[in-house]
Amino acid sequence: SEEIIEQGYDGELKIILLGEVFTGKTSLINAYTKEKFNPEVNTTTSPSYFSKLITVGNQTILVNIWDTAGQEKFRSMNKIFIKKSNIVLFIYDITRKKTFKELSFWVKYVENCIGKDNIIFCVVGNKLDLFDKEEELKQKNFEFDLVDTEEAREFANNIGAEYLETSAKESGSAFVKFLDKIIGQYVEKYMNFVKNNKEKKGIQLDDDKDLSKQKKNKCC
Ligand code: GDP
Ligand code: MG
Repeated sequence: SEEIIEQGYDGELKIILLGEVFTGKTSLINAYTKEKFNPEVNTTTSPSYFSKLITVGNQTILVNIWDTAGQEKFRSMNKIFIKKSNIVLFIYDITRKKTFKELSFWVKYVENCIGKDNIIFCVVGNKLDLFDKEEELKQKNFEFDLVDTEEAREFANNIGAEYLETSAKESGSAFVKFLDKIIGQYVEKYMNFVKNNKEKKGIQLDDDKDLSKQKKNKCC
């Protein structure tokens, strides 16, 4: 947004959340960008993205998060978004094993688009607040087939991903902390900045423009 451009930033990275419908992807993004839970999430079908500036060390990073907003139903995520992503979060609902099993599909989908170089994978089990709500959920005619934490952790290990179980509803701040940590790792590992000798300005720095150009050439 205008405000972000005015503040200036040192680097930019893109994050995408993939997984089945109703796993809480939009809610997690809301938790990250607005730090509050909105039970009435928007279910439009056009992809949208959210931006947030975060500080890593003395660098300001513009984080862009893509929300798939419905295309996941059709298994036709736009590959351009995936190719441009630096961090991929694979989301499942801990109360529906089916959504966990489907992650293999999404992992393959991503691996067919891009290699594992210069990318961080994360597996996130959401709706942890519901782990002991079997009766309530069944009364509402929701299925309840809990995902085993160890199995999920092992799955994450096997694909070289970081792992987190969380609740967008009740522990949004834990998710914020997790994602900030991952972003910090990414910046440290893959983004080389010329430190010290430049000052942030009210506009995007020239170096950043070069960085995004390089990225575009590499990806597409
Ligand atoms: P998406 O389709 O993956 O984007 O999922 P949404 O973010 O739209 O969430 C689907 C439904 O699950 C909505 O009714 C949310 O309010 C609810 N939801 C999302 N995260 C949580 C959570 O952590 N706990 C609980 N109890 N409900 C959640
Ligand atoms: Mg959504």
